[in-house]
Amino acid sequence: MSLKKIIIAIDAGHGGQDPGAIGYTGLKEKTVNIKIALQIKKLLNNNRMFHAILTRNNDSYLSLKKRRQFLTKNHINLLVSIHADSSKKQYVSGASVWIISNTRMHREINNYLKNNNSIICFSKNIQNIFNENKYDTFLKKTILDLQFNNFQKLELDLSKHIFEQLKKNIKLHKIHPNYASLGILSCINIPAILIETGFVTNFLEEKKLRTTDYQNKIAKSIYLALKNYFLEF
Ligand SMILES: [Zn+2]
Repeated sequence: MSLKKIIIAIDAGHGGQDPGAIGYTGLKEKTVNIKIALQIKKLLNNNRMFHAILTRNNDSYLSLKKRRQFLTKNHINLLVSIHADSSKKQYVSGASVWIISNTRMHREINNYLKNNNSIICFSKNIQNIFNENKYDTFLKKTILDLQFNNFQKLELDLSKHIFEQLKKNIKLHKIHPNYASLGILSCINIPAILIETGFVTNFLEEKKLRTTDYQNKIAKSIYLALKNYFLEF
């Protein structure tokens, strides 16, 4: 029997006609995001525990709708979205982690239960219960709420590992995860975190984010955090 791998989707933010944030000397966020994402994929796939997939693997444009379709229709254990930050204040720097807000996730769950026509890839056990209890909205809501509680626990625990690893190599902007209503994090079937790897609008950080060495350091930190989290779990 072959053991099932942990399937991790790495989402490089922006791409193609959407450059994302643009730095002081013209560094485009989309370029940094894809380089870090490709490196994380490589590190994960060298470990037999993981199977990593990318939402985009080159400089192509991918709408939020397409990204969400990919995430809801595939069996994925975790989504890690990679971004770089921007600020009007040039002195602001450092990495941060974002997870979905309770309000947004509950809205997504309620929408799903109301419309009930969207095809979402849930785990096999959950799908079986849903099939057998097609009209029991209360039961379905209970399951999805419980699942979200567990997802959030995973996201918070994983964030700790991410901060622990990142701070060895790079500056942190905030030491706790932020909650936000972000579309990419709001699929109801997948735990998800978004990492802002630094500010392209900060002169020094832009210079660092441009280098392969720094990109690889970030990728390695994120990989180690994932490895440590899943080994400990
Ligand atoms: Zn971004």
